[in-house]
Amino acid sequence: MRPVVHLDNVTKRYPNVTALENVSLEIPPGVVCALLGANGAGKTTAIRILLGLEQVDSGTASVLGIDSSTGGLEIRSRVGYVAERPTLYDWMTVEEIGWFAAGFYPLGYAETYNRYIRRFGLDARKRIRELSKGMRAKVALSLSLAHSPDLLILDEPTEGLAPIVVRQIFDKLKELRSEGMTMLLVEQNFHFATRLSDTASIFGRGQCVWNGTCEALRSDTELHEKWLGV
Ligand code: ATP
Repeated sequence: MRPVVHLDNVTKRYPNVTALENVSLEIPPGVVCALLGANGAGKTTAIRILLGLEQVDSGTASVLGIDSSTGGLEIRSRVGYVAERPTLYDWMTVEEIGWFAAGFYPLGYAETYNRYIRRFGLDARKRIRELSKGMRAKVALSLSLAHSPDLLILDEPTEGLAPIVVRQIFDKLKELRSEGMTMLLVEQNFHFATRLSDTASIFGRGQCVWNGTCEALRSDTELHEKWLGV
């Protein structure tokens, strides 16, 4: 079966650092994969390459069979992406930002967005600037899901959130997983990541140092201590 996410021997250099060196990664349909590793390991760079926001120096990247180096626009229209620090227009209300985003997607987006907003218990009339961090995270997740994407990419979705919000996001993602959503999850919270994901890849200093199932990872304490500090 064709992988939804595919990095093949990808190298990406910035002027002062090699962010990724010969990194390979495959996520088959319906699989949730956690991307783990220390700060600066190259996780966000890998995501940006997959979405066509950065070009590789060598190797290839594709999403849903589309080459990331040329098909970024199409990829981004079919992927839900929650960035590390999502930028939301903070003068808009929760409802208005849904209408605004709907302009970039086919009909039905705003209705689906509003359904998520209600399910998360958010007040549609509140301005984004008046929202707590957790509420903003829920808006960002709703925006990323409203076009029914074929892949969901989340870059540290629980960073700085209260445990109750982390739980709510966990439950939502678990529900999506049971519906067959393919996901790539960058997450520092080891338990959150490994309880939600089927597989994991550990990045260390720009290289993929380990690939396997979360079950295998949970029982390998030497591996966590060496690469994840947990
Ligand atoms: P974190 O967990 O802290 O978000 P990360 O694993 O996502 O880290 P990246 O953001 O991919 O790591 O960064 C990998 C390396 O590439 C770092 O050394 C970073 O400083 C560097 N880097 C990332 N983007 C750029 C850029 N646009 N220009 C120069 N260097 C960059």
